[in-house]
Amino acid sequence: MKKVIYPGTFDPIHNGHVDIATRASRLFDVLIFAVADNPNKEPLFTVEERMDLIRRSTQHIPNVQVKSTRGLVVDFAREETAIALIRGLRHVSDFEFEFQMAMMNYHLNPSITTILMMPDEKYIHLNSTVVKDVAKLKGDVSDYVPTVVLEYLKSKFE
Ligand code: ADP
Repeated sequence: MKKVIYPGTFDPIHNGHVDIATRASRLFDVLIFAVADNPNKEPLFTVEERMDLIRRSTQHIPNVQVKSTRGLVVDFAREETAIALIRGLRHVSDFEFEFQMAMMNYHLNPSITTILMMPDEKYIHLNSTVVKDVAKLKGDVSDYVPTVVLEYLKSKFE
Protein backbone atom coordinates (compact mmCIF):
# COMPACT_ATOMS: atom_id res chain seq x y z
CA MET A 1 0.00 0.00 0.00
CA LYS A 2 1.70 3.20 -1.14
CA LYS A 3 0.28 6.15 0.78
CA VAL A 4 0.82 9.85 0.19
CA ILE A 5 -0.32 12.77 2.27
CA TYR A 6 -1.53 16.13 0.97
CA PRO A 7 -1.13 18.68 3.78
CA GLY A 8 -2.64 22.17 3.88
CA THR A 9 -5.18 24.50 5.41
CA PHE A 10 -7.85 24.01 2.74
CA ASP A 11 -9.86 27.04 3.93
CA PRO A 12 -11.76 26.16 1.78
CA ILE A 13 -10.79 23.50 -0.77
CA HIS A 14 -10.86 24.86 -4.34
CA ASN A 15 -10.47 23.40 -7.83
CA GLY A 16 -6.66 23.80 -7.79
CA HIS A 17 -6.52 21.49 -4.76
CA VAL A 18 -8.97 19.04 -6.39
CA ASP A 19 -6.85 19.02 -9.57
CA ILE A 20 -3.67 18.17 -7.64
CA ALA A 21 -5.44 15.54 -5.51
CA THR A 22 -6.93 13.89 -8.62
CA ARG A 23 -3.51 13.67 -10.30
CA ALA A 24 -1.70 12.48 -7.17
CA SER A 25 -4.35 9.87 -6.36
CA ARG A 26 -3.52 8.09 -9.63
CA LEU A 27 0.10 7.65 -8.56
CA PHE A 28 -0.56 6.16 -5.11
CA ASP A 29 -2.86 3.56 -3.54
CA VAL A 30 -4.13 6.00 -0.91
CA LEU A 31 -4.10 9.80 -0.73
CA ILE A 32 -4.68 11.31 2.72
CA PHE A 33 -5.63 14.97 3.08
CA ALA A 34 -3.91 16.26 6.23
CA VAL A 35 -5.99 19.27 7.24
CA ALA A 36 -4.07 21.66 9.48
CA ASP A 37 -5.95 22.26 12.72
CA ASN A 38 -4.12 25.44 13.64
CA PRO A 39 -6.31 27.87 15.64
CA ASN A 40 -3.66 30.64 15.33
CA LYS A 41 -4.44 30.95 11.62
CA GLU A 42 -8.06 31.95 12.33
CA PRO A 43 -9.58 30.13 9.36
CA LEU A 44 -13.00 31.06 7.99
CA PHE A 45 -14.17 27.45 8.19
CA THR A 46 -13.77 25.14 11.20
CA VAL A 47 -11.61 22.08 10.79
CA GLU A 48 -14.77 19.90 10.70
CA GLU A 49 -16.28 22.09 7.96
CA ARG A 50 -13.06 22.01 5.94
CA MET A 51 -12.88 18.22 6.22
CA ASP A 52 -16.54 17.86 5.27
CA LEU A 53 -16.03 20.09 2.21
CA ILE A 54 -13.00 18.05 1.13
CA ARG A 55 -14.91 14.77 1.49
CA ARG A 56 -17.83 16.07 -0.53
CA SER A 57 -15.58 17.66 -3.20
CA THR A 58 -13.54 14.50 -3.78
CA GLN A 59 -16.28 11.90 -4.00
CA HIS A 60 -15.13 11.09 -7.56
CA ILE A 61 -11.72 9.97 -6.21
CA PRO A 62 -12.08 6.49 -4.70
CA ASN A 63 -8.81 6.30 -2.75
CA VAL A 64 -9.04 9.53 -0.71
CA GLN A 65 -9.07 9.79 3.08
CA VAL A 66 -9.49 13.01 5.07
CA LYS A 67 -7.85 13.55 8.46
CA SER A 68 -6.76 16.50 10.59
CA THR A 69 -3.47 17.16 12.32
CA ARG A 70 -2.02 19.62 14.83
CA GLY A 71 1.57 18.42 14.74
CA LEU A 72 4.41 18.27 12.28
CA VAL A 73 3.49 17.04 8.83
CA VAL A 74 6.37 14.52 8.82
CA ASP A 75 5.18 13.07 12.15
CA PHE A 76 1.68 12.73 10.75
CA ALA A 77 3.13 11.02 7.65
CA ARG A 78 5.06 8.57 9.83
CA GLU A 79 1.94 7.73 11.87
CA GLU A 80 0.02 7.09 8.68
CA THR A 81 2.91 5.05 7.18
CA ALA A 82 2.96 7.40 4.16
CA ILE A 83 6.06 7.42 1.96
CA ALA A 84 5.60 10.85 0.40
CA LEU A 85 3.91 14.22 0.69
CA ILE A 86 2.45 16.30 -2.11
CA ARG A 87 2.66 20.07 -2.37
CA GLY A 88 1.25 22.24 -5.15
CA LEU A 89 3.49 24.58 -7.11
CA ARG A 90 1.87 27.53 -8.85
CA HIS A 91 4.44 30.21 -9.54
CA VAL A 92 8.20 30.47 -9.28
CA SER A 93 7.46 32.53 -6.17
CA ASP A 94 6.06 29.38 -4.47
CA PHE A 95 9.30 27.54 -5.14
CA GLU A 96 11.54 29.18 -2.56
CA PHE A 97 9.19 28.47 0.33
CA GLU A 98 8.39 24.93 -0.82
CA PHE A 99 12.07 24.15 -1.36
CA GLN A 100 12.97 25.40 2.13
CA MET A 101 10.16 23.38 3.68
CA ALA A 102 11.12 20.24 1.72
CA MET A 103 14.72 20.54 2.97
CA MET A 104 13.56 20.92 6.58
CA ASN A 105 11.21 17.96 6.20
CA TYR A 106 14.05 15.80 4.79
CA HIS A 107 16.08 16.79 7.83
CA LEU A 108 13.24 15.83 10.18
CA ASN A 109 12.39 12.60 8.40
CA PRO A 110 14.56 11.57 5.41
CA SER A 111 12.27 8.66 4.51
CA ILE A 112 9.38 10.97 3.47
CA THR A 113 9.80 12.25 -0.09
CA THR A 114 8.37 15.65 -1.06
CA ILE A 115 6.70 15.79 -4.48
CA LEU A 116 5.88 19.18 -6.02
CA MET A 117 3.08 19.14 -8.59
CA MET A 118 1.83 21.81 -10.99
CA PRO A 119 -1.94 22.19 -11.49
CA ASP A 120 -3.75 22.74 -14.78
CA GLU A 121 -2.85 26.25 -15.93
CA LYS A 122 -6.40 27.53 -15.36
CA TYR A 123 -5.79 27.18 -11.61
CA ILE A 124 -2.33 28.68 -11.52
CA HIS A 125 -3.49 32.00 -10.03
CA LEU A 126 -5.91 30.45 -7.60
CA ASN A 127 -5.66 30.31 -3.83
CA SER A 128 -8.15 30.07 -0.97
CA THR A 129 -7.70 33.73 0.04
CA VAL A 130 -8.68 35.01 -3.43
CA VAL A 131 -11.73 32.73 -3.41
CA LYS A 132 -12.86 34.08 -0.01
CA ASP A 133 -12.18 37.72 -0.89
CA VAL A 134 -14.20 37.54 -4.11
CA ALA A 135 -17.03 35.49 -2.57
CA LYS A 136 -17.31 37.95 0.31
CA LEU A 137 -17.99 40.75 -2.15
CA LYS A 138 -20.58 38.55 -3.92
CA GLY A 139 -18.33 37.92 -6.95
CA ASP A 140 -18.72 34.78 -9.07
CA VAL A 141 -16.23 32.04 -8.12
CA SER A 142 -18.23 29.16 -9.59
CA ASP A 143 -15.43 28.26 -12.05
CA TYR A 144 -12.97 27.85 -9.21
CA VAL A 145 -14.67 25.90 -6.44
CA PRO A 146 -16.79 22.73 -6.26
CA THR A 147 -20.57 23.36 -6.03
CA VAL A 148 -20.71 22.32 -2.38
CA VAL A 149 -18.07 24.94 -1.50
CA LEU A 150 -19.97 27.59 -3.45
CA GLU A 151 -23.06 26.89 -1.35
CA TYR A 152 -21.09 27.01 1.93
CA LEU A 153 -19.47 30.32 0.91
CA LYS A 154 -22.86 31.83 0.07
CA SER A 155 -24.29 30.85 3.44
CA LYS A 156 -21.21 32.14 5.32
CA PHE A 157 -21.37 35.55 3.67
CA GLU A 158 -25.15 35.99 3.69
P1 ADP B 1 -3.59 28.09 -0.20
O1 ADP B 1 -4.23 29.14 0.67
O2 ADP B 1 -2.34 28.55 -0.86
O3 ADP B 1 -4.57 27.45 -1.12
P2 ADP B 1 -3.29 25.62 1.35
O4 ADP B 1 -2.48 25.45 2.59
O5 ADP B 1 -4.73 25.35 1.47
O6 ADP B 1 -3.00 27.06 0.85
O7 ADP B 1 -2.67 24.72 0.21
C1 ADP B 1 -2.41 23.36 0.39
C2 ADP B 1 -1.53 22.88 -0.73
O8 ADP B 1 -2.21 23.07 -1.97
C3 ADP B 1 -0.21 23.65 -0.86
O9 ADP B 1 0.78 22.74 -1.26
C4 ADP B 1 -0.48 24.62 -1.97
O10 ADP B 1 0.71 24.95 -2.67
C5 ADP B 1 -1.39 23.81 -2.84
N1 ADP B 1 -2.21 24.67 -3.67
C6 ADP B 1 -2.97 25.71 -3.28
N2 ADP B 1 -3.57 26.31 -4.33
C7 ADP B 1 -3.18 25.62 -5.43
C8 ADP B 1 -3.44 25.75 -6.84
N3 ADP B 1 -4.21 26.72 -7.32
N4 ADP B 1 -2.85 24.89 -7.64
C9 ADP B 1 -2.04 23.92 -7.16
N5 ADP B 1 -1.74 23.74 -5.87
C10 ADP B 1 -2.31 24.57 -5.01
